[in-house]
Amino acid sequence: MRKLLLFLFVLPFCVWAQHPDDVRIINQLCSQEFSGRGYVNSGDSLAAEYIALEFKKLGLRPQKRSFFQGFGFRVNAFPGKLSFSINGNLLIPGKDYVVNPSSPSAKLDRETMVFLDKFSRVEDVVEALPQLDPAKHIIVLDKSKFISRDDQIVLRASIAKLSEVMPVILLNEGTPIWHVSQNQWNFPVFEVDKTVFQEGVIKAEIEAKIINHSARNVVARIKSKGKPRRRIVFTAHYDHLGRMGQNTFYPGANDNASGVTLMIAIARKIRKLPRSSTEYVFIAFAGEEVGLLGSKFFVQNPMFDLKSIRFLVNLDIFGGAQHSITAVNGTIYHEEFECLVNTNKEMNVTPEIKSRGESANSDHHYFHAAGVRSFFLYSGGNNKHYHVPTDEAQDVDMILVDKCADLMVRFVGRL
Ligand SMILES: [Zn+2]
Repeated sequence: MRKLLLFLFVLPFCVWAQHPDDVRIINQLCSQEFSGRGYVNSGDSLAAEYIALEFKKLGLRPQKRSFFQGFGFRVNAFPGKLSFSINGNLLIPGKDYVVNPSSPSAKLDRETMVFLDKFSRVEDVVEALPQLDPAKHIIVLDKSKFISRDDQIVLRASIAKLSEVMPVILLNEGTPIWHVSQNQWNFPVFEVDKTVFQEGVIKAEIEAKIINHSARNVVARIKSKGKPRRRIVFTAHYDHLGRMGQNTFYPGANDNASGVTLMIAIARKIRKLPRSSTEYVFIAFAGEEVGLLGSKFFVQNPMFDLKSIRFLVNLDIFGGAQHSITAVNGTIYHEEFECLVNTNKEMNVTPEIKSRGESANSDHHYFHAAGVRSFFLYSGGNNKHYHVPTDEAQDVDMILVDKCADLMVRFVGRL
């Protein structure tokens, strides 16, 4: 009896546990050393080499001679100084404020600030400008006053217009999220947490630089037995936002070290299966955060006939599927969606698989537009981190990553 009880207790932990390699990989991807896998300190380049090495260690092969597919793009990076203070109080970058990604280098010391209430039209901004002194003022806008979709369009247009002539502060409810931009405005824009904001003297320093960045997609495959009759493709972007100044980096654990780790876990599991007539391809994309640039480049320069793809699964944001997994394109590819739902029911990995229509919000998009049957899958659960420096590896549910890998392997095995 005691033996049976022991067995019952131990069993659930034996079936699914976090895999030590998954933990090692996600920790490394999110480390200081990789600088948020962006454009400063060769962050994304180091990550690309690391992922290629992991593929190699698993016995995966390159598509051509190398695991890499290179391409380039321009991006506004923040490699140097960054500071922002109000009345002598230095705010914390990434937490209290972010510098808008289209900001240029600047050194500010402004004693006056002007509050403008909600603009209803961009013309209102233009009319208000003569009352302001661009050399002395910094405009403060409160984001919470722009609620409707139309309001937000006005707000965006207003910021672009205002930043041509003077710096702007945009008040945000809580920690503002960060993005990437390929352009620079004339003046910087700061997004500041409303709760730490006060009127007074603003001093700030930014070093920004437009760079022509070289990036690499990492492409690997598990060869079929004989000539491949069809391909199953897994994709996940490995790039993230990088560094905002010398001291702040965005680890991007949920977005998307989780998806890359999951993809490598899937490769490890499929590698152990007997070879079949299906070739499995794994692509870690660069340049997603700049606007799906890596996957766009791949679709425009494919390494194999895209028509040979039976199905593509794009994994982006897999920090924890405690509540659900959502399938973008789920309402389009009924057969595959039903298969995924049924497989999950058998394995009980997540309580619900939700379906959505098409959406151009991740790396499946250009494949889908080119006629490739595909899902973009993301997890819904406790991990809500998105484009903040607190998106760290420790908050990714690694047991669920292992479970999801098993689910994916069984799902694609049935297609
Ligand atoms: Zn992202």
